[in-house]
This record gives sequence, C-alpha cells and structure tokens, in this order.
Amino acid sequence: MTRHRIAVLPGDGIGREVMPEALKILGRIGDIFDMKFEFSPFDWSCETWLATGRMMPPDGMQRLSQHDAILLGAVGYPSVPDHISLWGMLIPIRRDFDQYVNLRPVRLLPGIPCPLAGRGPGDIDFWIVRENTEGEYSQIGGRFAEGSAAEGVAQTAIFTRRGTDRIMRYAFDLASRLDRPHVSSATKSNGLFHSMPYWDERFAKMAAEYPQVRTDVHHIDILAARFVMNPDRFDIVVGSNLFGDILSDLGPGVTGTIAVAPSANINPEKRFPSMFEPVHGSAPDIAGRNIANPIGQIWAASMMLDHLGESEAAALVLCAIECVTADPSAAVRTADIGGHASTSACGDAIVAALDRIA
Ligand code: ATP
Ligand code: MG
Repeated sequence: MTRHRIAVLPGDGIGREVMPEALKILGRIGDIFDMKFEFSPFDWSCETWLATGRMMPPDGMQRLSQHDAILLGAVGYPSVPDHISLWGMLIPIRRDFDQYVNLRPVRLLPGIPCPLAGRGPGDIDFWIVRENTEGEYSQIGGRFAEGSAAEGVAQTAIFTRRGTDRIMRYAFDLASRLDRPHVSSATKSNGLFHSMPYWDERFAKMAAEYPQVRTDVHHIDILAARFVMNPDRFDIVVGSNLFGDILSDLGPGVTGTIAVAPSANINPEKRFPSMFEPVHGSAPDIAGRNIANPIGQIWAASMMLDHLGESEAAALVLCAIECVTADPSAAVRTADIGGHASTSACGDAIVAALDRIA
C-alpha cells in the first residue's frame, strides 16, 4: 500500500469549508486505490497571526518539510493586510521549498457557462506554466535622486540561465506527455530590451532539444487577446513570473469562474514538498455559510495526486468533478454556478460520482 504524508492547511474563511470536502474525496480515493493518506492538519492562518503575531510557528518550515505535499485552502482576513499572509507564510513556502513552477490548468468544464460565446468543453484545455521564483518580481532596485527634479525609481528584473532553462524544460517535458506536443512562449522582446530577448534565446535553445515539440512565440499583448479570441490554439503556455501571473488569472477568467480552478506550486525534482491550492481566496463575503464551491479545492487535490505519481486517481477525481458540473440539477451545484447546493452537498455529489465511475 502506498503511503502519502500530506500537510493540510485549511487557512481562513472558506478555506476551512472547502478543505473538508477535498479530504473526503481523498479518503474515498484511498479506499478505491488502496493507498493511505496521512493528513497532518496545521491551523496556520491570518487568525493565528491576529492571536499570536505569527502566521506559522518558528519551526513551521521544518514541520512542513516532513511531508510529501502540502494542500492549502486559502489565507486572508479582512483586517489583515495581504502582505502578512504572503510574506509570513506563502512566500517562505514557495521560496524555501524551491517551488519554481506555478502550474494552472485552463480547462472549460462541462456545464460551466463560458463567458466566450460559442465555446464549449474541449475548446479550451491548456496549461499555463509560470516561473515562480525570479524574473520581474525581484527586490532589486529602488528610488533615486529622491526629492530632486530627477527623482524616480528603478525595478530590476532578474532572469538567470538556470531559472529560465528550468522553467522551460518543465514546459517542454509537460508538452512531451501530450499527443501533439506544443509549447507557446509569452514574450515582449519588442519592448523589454534586455530580459525578453534573453528569454527568447533560451526558449529557442530549449526548443532545439525537443524537435518533436511544435513551438510558437507571442508577445504578451497579442497573447492576452488570443486567450480570448482563439483559446483553442494553446496547449502549454510558458511565461515569466509577471506575464505568467497575469495569464494565470486571465485563463480561469475565460473559463467562467475562479471558484473551480486550481493552482500548483511545484518543486519538480521532489527535493521539497510542492503545494496545491485553489485559485480563489478566502472569500470573506461568503465565509461561514457552507455555500462556497469546493471544486477548486478538490481539483487542487487531483493535481496533488498527479504530482505524487497517482495519475490514474488524479484523472478519476477530475472525471467525477466533470460528472457533477455537467449535472444540471440545482441540488448538486453551488450558488456561483447557478444552483443551491451547500458546499458539503456538492462534495457528496463528487464522492457519489467517484463511486459510480470507479
Ligand atoms: P483574496 O485576497 O484572498 O484572494 P479576494 O476577496 O480578493 O480574496 P476571493 O476570495 O477569491 O478574492 O473572492 C473573489 C470573489 O469570488 C468573492 O465575491 C467570492 O465570494 C467569490 N468566490 C471565491 N471563491 C469562491 C468559491 N469557492 N465559491 C463561490 N464563490 C467564490
Ligand atoms: Mg485577492
């Protein structure tokens, strides 16, 4: 029996309501596939910060490092500034565990209304691979000539060869799993004088190592337009930290609702645990009412299974999610997708779908 040690961080707000649904699904998967999950719950959150002045205890990273993966709900509390949860927990986890890939599926699920007219499931189904550790989000730079007429600010972007090559290699390896391998690169080498020509150069070098993978290069401005006009032309899109950040919200945007989309922060070499979470936040406006859609959290659990090498189980969970989104009954759909199901009723429907298709 395979054993997976999972650190479970429900966090704040609806994170605490959607996480139990994901654990319920994983429990059922454990029975079906004869695998054992050891869940370690950690109640680290903005509420912990309000009570103790820390998001997580001093030995928090060491405790997380004992696990094979981290399943995160959402952190955020109305009276707590975003940078507290970011710098107090999320950024240390991403940085110290070298989670240099942020991976998000952009996939239109059956039964989820698409904001783009005339598109249905199958038309939009691709992945965004975002560089998660360097690029434009560096702390290098600062103000100059303060107080004088020449005052200004410089923000330096850093693209190392190691950082650039490893994200591109991940994208090409992911593409190699597809029937028709294809990678698109997000660039802006007609505007950014130093960084993006280097990005293009590394992309071309990597492409030469993968002759079976079709490639194309798009400037970020037209790429954003193509996400809306021709989303069916993409399979894998690789982008820098900033471009990937923007695209990875645009993606869930064109597929209807952020509540169903997941996000993975991955250390591909598995030297450290990777972290899986829904795209949505703690949604204080609906927290505490058992009406949040749990699908983003459950899909995040499916991505986690895939990362743990349990691709069959991962596919089964996604299939069960699709059974439920395709079901027009208001009794299994949460309010954000036009029904009146509670969070737990939607989770139960996904468990029932698992049992039907397993
Ligand atoms: P954060 O800063 O933590 O990202 P936010 O308020 O910016 O929080 P979300 O928490 O994602 O962003 O909420 C955005 C909107 O989407 C809110 O109106 C929220 O109620 C809604 N929403 C988010 N997640 C869900 C969900 N799982 N089910 C239903 N509605 C959701
Ligand atoms: Mg937000």
